[in-house]
Amino acid sequence: MQYRLLLILLWLPMMLMAQPAKKVTLQVLGSGGPELTDKRASASYLVWVDGKARFLIDFGGGASLRFEESGASVEDLDAILLTHLHIDHTSDLPALIKGAFFSERKRNLPIYGPEGNDVMPATSAFVFRLFESGKGAWEYMGDFLDGRAAFRLEPNDVPDSRTPLPLFSENNISVEAVSVHHGPIPAVAYRINVGDKSITFSGDMNGSYHTLETLAKETTILVMHNAVPKGAAGVAAALHMTPETIGKIAAAANPKTLILSHRMMRTLGKELETISEIRKYYKGKIKFADDGNRFLAL
Ligand SMILES: [Zn+2]
Repeated sequence: MQYRLLLILLWLPMMLMAQPAKKVTLQVLGSGGPELTDKRASASYLVWVDGKARFLIDFGGGASLRFEESGASVEDLDAILLTHLHIDHTSDLPALIKGAFFSERKRNLPIYGPEGNDVMPATSAFVFRLFESGKGAWEYMGDFLDGRAAFRLEPNDVPDSRTPLPLFSENNISVEAVSVHHGPIPAVAYRINVGDKSITFSGDMNGSYHTLETLAKETTILVMHNAVPKGAAGVAAALHMTPETIGKIAAAANPKTLILSHRMMRTLGKELETISEIRKYYKGKIKFADDGNRFLAL
């Protein structure tokens, strides 16, 4: 009997070690910004793990159609991660929740996003303002907040932090967040770790906090937002990274692949200039995102 127990004890760790690495894929749902002329959905991404869409990052205008086109199931989502609450990152959220009403989802759905300040509500207040019974813009969806629907939305405010904060960790998958500077708007960047692979999302930011360099250190895929061109100044540069800033951060973080997204009319057509600016600092792989693109984390 003791011999059999010994065999099992030896066999178990070997079986666990033999488990194949999980396949992790970034899918771009929306590669554009807020403009109505870029022929792109606004910011949104999925992280697929072994064929299931587990994380949804931002959900701007047009992303709900891209979500349908991707073949993702709302039942599979572990969490929604909002980098900030600007319209081009959140406006399709009500469409997702209403769509989920017609799904088989029973698990509660966590929604992470920044805490509030004088300019923006906290993520929890934002979700309640959308759906709360008797008060929300779509108050008829209040049962998704008070437990009467098939599942409940669970908003979580990510505290302002200049060092990466662990948000949750389960079965070799973990999520971290850190505050980034996006003018007066509370904003966070996220890193999703799956085994030894990771995908990091800058969200909209201008780099002033110097926090993404740490969060994204040696990440597999780093998604950065190419919203302004070389030489941008004033409000645009207070909100967004110039290509030079993207290059410096990417050089410090050293991702295997850098994906440039949140492409806008002022950067579309300037890809060669943008790459040559980034190349002054970062020597790794650079790709521009289009809606629907999939990038396997290798
Ligand atoms: Zn944006």
